[in-house]
Amino acid sequence: MFDKILIANRGEIALRILRAAKELGVQTVAVYSTADRDAMHVKLADESVCIGPPAARDSYLNIPALLAACEITGADAIHPGYGFLSENARFAEICEDHGITFIGPKAEHIRTMGDKIEAKRTARALGIPCVPGSDGGITDDEEAMRVGDEIGFPLIVKAAAGGGGRGMKVARTREDLSDALSTARMEAKAAFGDDAVYLEKYLEKPRHIEIQVLGDGRGDAVHLAERDCSLQRRHQKVLEESPSPALNEEQRDRIGMIVANAMKKLQYRGAGTIEFLYENGEFYFIEMNTRIQVEHPVTEMITGFDLVIEQIRIASGSPLSMTQDDVRLSGHAIECRINAEHPATFRPSPGKIAYFHTPGGLGVRVDSAVYQGYMIPPNYDSLVGKLIVHGRTRNEALMRLRRALDEFIVDGIDTTLPLFRTLVRNQDIQNGDYDIHWLEKFLAKGGME
Ligand code: ADP
Repeated sequence: MFDKILIANRGEIALRILRAAKELGVQTVAVYSTADRDAMHVKLADESVCIGPPAARDSYLNIPALLAACEITGADAIHPGYGFLSENARFAEICEDHGITFIGPKAEHIRTMGDKIEAKRTARALGIPCVPGSDGGITDDEEAMRVGDEIGFPLIVKAAAGGGGRGMKVARTREDLSDALSTARMEAKAAFGDDAVYLEKYLEKPRHIEIQVLGDGRGDAVHLAERDCSLQRRHQKVLEESPSPALNEEQRDRIGMIVANAMKKLQYRGAGTIEFLYENGEFYFIEMNTRIQVEHPVTEMITGFDLVIEQIRIASGSPLSMTQDDVRLSGHAIECRINAEHPATFRPSPGKIAYFHTPGGLGVRVDSAVYQGYMIPPNYDSLVGKLIVHGRTRNEALMRLRRALDEFIVDGIDTTLPLFRTLVRNQDIQNGDYDIHWLEKFLAKGGME
């Protein structure tokens, strides 16, 4: 096991990693920008190092500063969390070159899965079902038209380097395609510095269902069932649950085993998520995330495994601590991502938290790094915290969520708490009857006005 882990992140995920390290008896090093001097992860870590000014590129993305912080503190491993450098293959290599263990997958797998065109090619070769689309990147309109005529409209143009729902454009008809291509390419260039795009069949009413995996890097891998993340706004997840209300046990086992076997073949190491769209009983791979995800707690709640502890153990060379048979699902879990945003307009609302009270009781978990009197800086994402509930059944989880949301108080800033209070009382949500467009339609109809 490691002696000391440096946490190359901030916010709730930095705290989440710190907790796992403490339970393993490993020392922790927090890093922070000058905007995060008063952050909770800095207060709770054994040591902390300031790595630069507020702008992420000068601090949380500043590789030389992170390496220097390892050097100064004697940290022998780095956990990147999610976002920032977590899917930067070069960073993983640089860590290894400096004798520091990167707590994550092999650099080659981060690289492959980071390029969505390569990722789809790899997934297909591993026997994972994919969305019909172009075989590779699309460079000219003519080629796009040909693919369009072949797989049919509507189509979605997606950025090869995409992430966070950016660089995607839908072409409803053949006439829209040329515009969609040039807009997607422009957006991709601006957001990712890479204008490579590809085409996919646009699915009209899919659910977003993703499978959590763990691999030891030597050919052993297990899946930890699915998360349903269909409730989205602007392709960003808002609420996640596990198990999915849309799957039965047989469907779960079938896709889970396809994914676990693929990860065995790949000799994948660490935690990962294979994302699918699911429509009319079929799964279609869209991408793989080679890191811990924001919504990992719902999986922890129904399996009992601590995914971050598993990541750390695997990185230190241990075999998986479970077999597929050891993974048993118990009950139902739901997570709400509570953001510092207006609940109807979604305008960011950084500022000082005047009063903060979190709910408690049986089956309630809050993963948050904010506290009363804390100033949410405007420089980073707007996640205030995640409320996760667990119940023996989906209905029990919903009842508990309703109660917990009513107990949650955040004063001084706008949050999306009122949105969740409305959603949890909605009949479609209660029935589990929603697809990836449900929330946008609900908001467009004035659901929050
Ligand atoms: P990102 O990496 O930017 O998150 P993804 O490929 O994971 O991009 O897609 C994000 C979301 O966009 C999906 O959850 C889904 O809502 C929507 N989406 C992606 N591909 C398709 C498609 N082929 N048809 C319909 N919706 C899609």
